[in-house]
Amino acid sequence: MTAAKKKAAKKPLARGKGAKRSESETRVPLGETALEQPEWRAFVGRWLEIAGCKVESAPHGDWEVELAPDLQKRWRRQRVRLVFDPARNTVPRGAWFTAPGSTAGRRILEAAMDRPMFTRRTALAQVPGAPATGIASVCKARGLTWGTPRLGPVRYERRVAFHAVITRWGGLPWQEQWVVLVGAGGEVLERDQAPQVPDVRPREGLYQMGEDLEPELRERWLLAARATLEELASEREREWEVSVGRLRDAELERLGAFFSARIEEEEERDRRRTSRDEHELEHGDATQLKLEWERRAAEVRQRWEMRTEVRLWGIEEWSWPVADLEQELKSGAMHVKLHSAVDVARGKPSLPGCPTCGTPAELLVRARGHVACANCAG
Ligand SMILES: [Zn+2]
Repeated sequence: MTAAKKKAAKKPLARGKGAKRSESETRVPLGETALEQPEWRAFVGRWLEIAGCKVESAPHGDWEVELAPDLQKRWRRQRVRLVFDPARNTVPRGAWFTAPGSTAGRRILEAAMDRPMFTRRTALAQVPGAPATGIASVCKARGLTWGTPRLGPVRYERRVAFHAVITRWGGLPWQEQWVVLVGAGGEVLERDQAPQVPDVRPREGLYQMGEDLEPELRERWLLAARATLEELASEREREWEVSVGRLRDAELERLGAFFSARIEEEEERDRRRTSRDEHELEHGDATQLKLEWERRAAEVRQRWEMRTEVRLWGIEEWSWPVADLEQELKSGAMHVKLHSAVDVARGKPSLPGCPTCGTPAELLVRARGHVACANCAG
């Protein structure tokens, strides 16, 4: 780690010397709280613009922001200088240090969360819409030959992306940005640790999608997204519990080593002085040390206590290009037709269903005169 990175990593904790010391020893990956993330800056910029603020660049990569009227009221100021560089030693007077997890970063997220950003976009179709090998690009076939793929016409489906920030409080504050993409029926299509839906070129506005959403459908989408985000948060929490617990225990261990040594010293001195009638006074010092140890250990435990929070900050309605793909698998006189749905925005076919059991298959083989997945064949 470079010196700049180390310094940056220390910024968000700055709560106690113990925590700082453990930071440099940990192998926990340094996330968005550690270094400036371009996605974070892009998010803040996009949100400020949508909220009606005027943003001008200032020296050192800072932003000088003229706040929109409602934000002027909320933050009781007309303008604010935002500092993004987490390695900056000093910030200009009155400026806000704006890394994610910082006080101002949180303040901005809170304001953004009050009204989730709502945007409408279209995913641009790739040309060609699917790889030349068709389904063979995602599914292997053993003892069978692929026919020519036939790609149907491109149509546009509605999808909704939910953007959320998962924050871990306690110990080392930490933030992750996630996006959950939900399909037309409310099914979760993908979840990515990213500020935006990955691998897609967007265009503003909904293409080939006129009618408004039915409220029930909107509700179903929101429920699916919320359940997924909560599931995600508890998954992340389980992982964090291990890494955070390790850091906490290491700190407790160092504290223990320090106090045991001090107490031992006191007791040793105590034994030497017993003959000189100083017993009571010295004995008191060791007791004081034990109490101090307990108090400090309780502090450490409290500081590392973890809490996870999920916040939805943006909803995107997408018009997404899809197409059907049909392709035959052949072996001698046997022909089996396979179907796949192609994500035309990424030029990627979905896994075909196994002709025997219907489960999405990555491998198809010939079994008892039919085509089957590894499970069915075994
Ligand atoms: Zn099967």
